[in-house]
Amino acid sequence: MFVGHYSVAFVARSEKNKIPLWVLFIAVQFLDYIWATLVLLGIEKLRVIKGFTAGSMLDSYFHPYSHSLIAAIAWSCVAGLAYKIFCSRHGCLYRKYAAFIVGAAVFSHWILDLIAHPRDLAIYDNRWKVGLGFWNYRDPEFALEIGLLAGGIMLYLTRNAMSAIRKGAVIAFGIALVVIQIGDTYVPRNPLTDNATAMGVWLFYTLFVVVAFLIEKIGNRRQTNAP
Ligand SMILES: [Zn+2]
Repeated sequence: MFVGHYSVAFVARSEKNKIPLWVLFIAVQFLDYIWATLVLLGIEKLRVIKGFTAGSMLDSYFHPYSHSLIAAIAWSCVAGLAYKIFCSRHGCLYRKYAAFIVGAAVFSHWILDLIAHPRDLAIYDNRWKVGLGFWNYRDPEFALEIGLLAGGIMLYLTRNAMSAIRKGAVIAFGIALVVIQIGDTYVPRNPLTDNATAMGVWLFYTLFVVVAFLIEKIGNRRQTNAP
């Protein structure tokens, strides 16, 4: 699962909880940030094999600290708590349940990975591996990612008050994510090394976080001045 993860960020953002979209963009990929970091440190192991599954070249044969069920639950709690502490220290808007929502967004990553991944997600440590293997079915998996993303963006647009220009920017961002997913799923390429893959994850995911941050700045002044 790749861009489909961002659907959760778009769905979770509401006027009620006031969680910035960029925070949710980090949350839904938090486990992959941990994973990419641990791969770079040589602690978790990854093989990039052409044709490993129809929709992905990633053979994550050892990632217990980022992607086991127990680790995912633990990281979700850590992230929710970190958000709460961050908000209280920096005096930013904090609404009831926001920490829980951030934690749930982190955990959603594991659920969506469970659908896509082959049986490489451990329940605990490196044992009892599960995965529904939707990556073996390239077109349906692609359709699921795009369907989730489109649904998430639609909800985001209807549930959050925003200017027409920001609406346009959100839709353009959505289209860019679809194009990136098309490239990832369908454009043939030679496998990168494990470290280059992990660096790519850091780079692309952070770029998306920056875009999410900038998007919510568009037309901000007009919004706050509005009655
Ligand atoms: Zn993942």
